[in-house]
Amino acid sequence: MLETLFTIELPVGESYQLKRHRFSPNEDQPEQGKRISIISGTHGDELEGVYVITMLAEWLKSNRDKIRGTIDLYPSLNSLGIDSITRTVPFYQADLNRIFPGTSRDTFPNQIAYGIIEAIKGSNIAIDIHASNIFLRELPQVRIAKTYAEHLVPLAKKLNMDFIWVHDAITVLEATLAHTLNSLGTHALVVEYGVGMRLTPGYGQQLLTGILNLLASEGIIDMMPFSVREPCYSDHGRVYYVNAPAAGLFVPAMDHCQSVKAEQIIGHIHDPYGVNPPIPCLTPGSGVLFTLREYPIVYEGSLIARIFDAQTGVCQ
Ligand SMILES: [Zn+2]
Repeated sequence: MLETLFTIELPVGESYQLKRHRFSPNEDQPEQGKRISIISGTHGDELEGVYVITMLAEWLKSNRDKIRGTIDLYPSLNSLGIDSITRTVPFYQADLNRIFPGTSRDTFPNQIAYGIIEAIKGSNIAIDIHASNIFLRELPQVRIAKTYAEHLVPLAKKLNMDFIWVHDAITVLEATLAHTLNSLGTHALVVEYGVGMRLTPGYGQQLLTGILNLLASEGIIDMMPFSVREPCYSDHGRVYYVNAPAAGLFVPAMDHCQSVKAEQIIGHIHDPYGVNPPIPCLTPGSGVLFTLREYPIVYEGSLIARIFDAQTGVCQ
């Protein structure tokens, strides 16, 4: 059932609407069984999650007899951003994922954030799908704040992702949708992969299998769990960062997801005027190149790559 949960009128004659597509065994009843919310489009320039939710909706429409719980699909939280190819909420330049839980009597983005929380809170599980940005290409991964790792890592392992990254940068995460939902008792997972403004269909299929596996494991759909990959786990290794040593045009010499050894050349930074020779960017350690610069223009300090070194050999 497609519902419009709330509408906010804009001064320019447009309006914002939060819509959700709910699947449940009996659409006449408000909520049945466990409830899961699948979310994307918090950032208007990230479309990978929109694609996965589209495929999930198709699957659910074809398999209504298997649904045992409540599955809520929110493909485009920042719909105005998606419409205008804008990462933030247009006109306000507000990053929607930095203002949760919002308030009902503040600016327009804060009202959106407040309404989103009111709609989603009470879900047992939420999956917030992001797609990196236009600058970096990411391996399929789940990102989890250390505070909630105990409950979230077992769920994350069901999602068929390549990497589970548990980190403790809680100060920058407190105003995110996932952190707010976790603090309200919903087990909220952040999935991130691919690149902004583009689709990576293979990764989309990979996550779809993972979501169906999670739904089956939680009894939300009546199916045997799927066979999924064993992810690398950041607690069993270390993450190296590679930052640009100078400004210029970054040209990669490696493929994303490639295994690397220490002191290999990831790419070069070229001086567009040709005054200085190309500067090589080297790998600081061995591992998997799970993040790689996609957008070529860099400044000194720009993130070029991240490498995960799995010391325990848990990677497949
Ligand atoms: Zn995002």
